[in-house]
Order: sequence, then C-alpha cells, then structure tokens
Amino acid sequence: MGYYSRAINMHKTAKFIFNEKKSIFPKKYNDLIKLKGVGPYTAAAISSICFDEKRAVLDGNVFRILSRYFKINDPINSNLGIKKFTKLSNKLVSESEPGNYNQGMMDLGSTICKPKNPLCNLCPLNKSCKSKKEEKFNLPNKLKLKKNKTRYLVYLIVKHYGKYYVKKRLSNDIWRNLYDFPLIEFKNSNENNDKNILIKLKNMLKNKDIMINQKVNINYKLTHQNLNISFVTLIGNIVFKSKKFEIVSKNKLMSLPVPKPIENFIGNI
Ligand code: SF4
Repeated sequence: MGYYSRAINMHKTAKFIFNEKKSIFPKKYNDLIKLKGVGPYTAAAISSICFDEKRAVLDGNVFRILSRYFKINDPINSNLGIKKFTKLSNKLVSESEPGNYNQGMMDLGSTICKPKNPLCNLCPLNKSCKSKKEEKFNLPNKLKLKKNKTRYLVYLIVKHYGKYYVKKRLSNDIWRNLYDFPLIEFKNSNENNDKNILIKLKNMLKNKDIMINQKVNINYKLTHQNLNISFVTLIGNIVFKSKKFEIVSKNKLMSLPVPKPIENFIGNI
C-alpha cells in the first residue's frame, strides 16, 4: 500500500469500507483494486489466498520462474511484457486452489528458482524448463529505467532556548504529512556550500548574525530519488521570518512522525 503512505492508505480504506461498504470487506479482485493503495499484486493475493478467486499473483519471483520456464525474453517492466505475463499466469493459475498455487509459485521462486544459482535439481519443473534445458539462466529481462533523480537537501537544525524549529510537510512531495526541519534545497552539488547556505538563510531569518556550527552529510535512497542530505546546526539567536514553523521540545520532537533519515539524525542530537 505504499511504503511511507501505508498507514494513511490503510486508514482511508478502513474508513471507506466502514462508511461506504457497511463494513463488508470486498472479496473480488475488481472491487479490491479500487481500494486506496491496493494494486494488482495485493488485489490478486487477497482475492486468491483469502477468497479463492482464480487470480494469479505476479511478483518478482513469479516473473523469474515464468520467464525462465517458458524462455520469455520480453522485459518484465515493459507494457507488452506485463500484459504477456499477466495473461499467461492467469491461464496457469489453479481453478480449485488459486491461493495455494500463488503461494507455491512465490515460494518456488524465493527458495529454488533464485536470481543467482537456481537449484534446478530440486525443482519440480526441471524436466520441462527451457532455461534448464539450455543451462542458461539470464532471465528475466528488464528495461533500464531512467536514472534516479538526485536532490540536495539542507536541513537547518535550529535550537531556540532548548527547543527546535520544525514543520509539517504539506506539499505534494515525498514524506507528505511527516515533520521535518526548516529546509533549503539546491539543484546541484556545486551550489550546496556554506556560502550559499548563509545567503539563503539571510532571506529566511529576521536576524543576520548566524554561524554554521556543524554540518553532517548523509546519502539516503528512496525508490525513485537519491537524497544528498546535509544537517546543518546553526548558532546565534535565530528567529525565522516565516510563521509556518512550530517550536517543539526535544521530547516532543522525538515523538513526532518524521522521515527515517531525520529519525536517525535526531537520535544523535
Ligand atoms: S528448472 Fe531451474 S530455471 Fe527452471 S524453473 Fe526450475 S529452478 Fe527455475
């Protein structure tokens, strides 16, 4: 249901089922897929494993078995490939025990038809598997996706009489509704230096006498973004012009929902 938004999606879905569906959980794939945060994989897993609907689950393990067994070269992340594998797997799934079939396929992929060094001698499909016959296991194919975007984030750690400035992330960006510190973002690594940070800061602050006390740099990977994060601790009697920040105690800060790299950082301040 999405990594950072899983709890939000589950809550929305629970309210939707309670209010709109009279608390009756949907059983069919076509109804499940309409729920917030439920995609084809989850809908197929729930409908087949819990309610015996003939729907095939397609995860990385299943893609691997099918592409190797039938020797299918279409990339598993291309539209054509997805269509082909979905059609094939829905044809293969057991009529009477779709849930067991799906769980069996996922287990076979994770324990026997492994990405490297598949254990073909233990595999129940080894007599008719095309890859085994040719002793070539370089499938599945995948299209090379666009390189992840790198972002340069500078978090300002500002202590105000023993308390910290924070804000809730409301824009339609990563970590929506989580809390973070005042933020400066640069477009590239060259811009991210102390001189530029101080220039930007002077526009954000009421006072001008500030100093960078400490800078901690980390790299953090999200699914589609690489984050280069600098935590910059400032000293001086710092007051922000903007009213969007809250000032919270360290205890309160520790109890707020924050992104993982910030959680790691505040453990050390
Ligand atoms: S025989 Fe080998 S390659 Fe073929 S499905 Fe089994 S483990 Fe995978």
